[in-house]
Amino acid sequence: MAQAQLLDGAALACQVRRQIRQQVTEMQAAVGRTPGLAVILVGDDPASQIYVRNKEKACTQVGILSLSRRFPADVSRSELFEAIRQFNDDPRVDGILVQLPLPQPEWEMDAIASIDPGKDVDGFHPLNAGRLLEGVPGFLSCTPAGILYLLRHAGVELVGRRAVVVGRSNIVGKPAALLLLREHATVTVAHSRTRDLAAVCREAEVLVVAAGHAHLIGADAIRPGAAVVDVGMNRTPEGLVGDVDFAAVSQVAGWITPVPGGVGPMTIAMLLLNTLLAARWHTGLDAELRSPLEFLAERGREDGDSRPPC
Ligand code: NAP
Repeated sequence: MAQAQLLDGAALACQVRRQIRQQVTEMQAAVGRTPGLAVILVGDDPASQIYVRNKEKACTQVGILSLSRRFPADVSRSELFEAIRQFNDDPRVDGILVQLPLPQPEWEMDAIASIDPGKDVDGFHPLNAGRLLEGVPGFLSCTPAGILYLLRHAGVELVGRRAVVVGRSNIVGKPAALLLLREHATVTVAHSRTRDLAAVCREAEVLVVAAGHAHLIGADAIRPGAAVVDVGMNRTPEGLVGDVDFAAVSQVAGWITPVPGGVGPMTIAMLLLNTLLAARWHTGLDAELRSPLEFLAERGREDGDSRPPC
């Protein structure tokens, strides 16, 4: 069987970042300021610290102002919510994210809901989640938006196709399923109670896996020629691995994302793009908040996709 085509998120994210950098320079010239992203980190979870550092580095690389507040794990609720309020009121800040998980999981929903929905670049605020459900414009969460762009860019057909999403979290599984539905795929959502997961996955022409279990999906779960998107990031003694057995599945699938280098870099690229689009809206350069997918569809035509990745 032929080897699957790689859905190279690292290279595509690089192209997107280059487009953002160009747009940030243009924005600076037009309105005299750059977009700003504020990140709040609580506690000393090593993975969260790496994610936040990567986001700050990515901001700097494209010229986005990066602000952050770091708190110890025993921060008081009022201190945390005051920091969110200050970023809500700060005119330099176009996007705010609270790095999850919080050491106090019971605060998470309120913390997200207290972010100004107009600065909710993660797309987790209930208002933006509701907008996605209703199919009206709002911030799209970054991982699902990145998945969609990877599939679109590779020319994977979605209209009328069978799509299966494994995982039903609010930050990946559910919004990914809603976006695929919006693209007119016929969508099934599987989860930990699904019976015969492999049989359900074998129906998929497009399979998105976001379960957080190393090598959950093997070649027996793949329909020949399917597009397989592996969202999983599992730290194992062998290093970072996805939820999909890449070596075996790439013998059967038509397209596949690697881990690392697939969905991860696309997520950060979409975060930067949401921040840029928020800033364009806040400064009046755009009359309303634009969707990153719509923006990329237009820029792709203007810039061409043939330039080498940065
Ligand atoms: P999560 O909140 O833990 O949700 C996991 C989902 O997978 C749940 O809906 C769960 O079902 C389902 N699940 C777990 N075990 C399963 C099994 N054996 N069979 C079928 N379904 C199963 O995780 P998440 O936040 O969505 O993240 C999922 C993975 O993606 C993690 O590895 C995370 O690190 C990664 N991630 C990557 C990125 C990126 O940028 N690459 C971004 C976000 C997350 P129930 O609902 O029934 O429990």
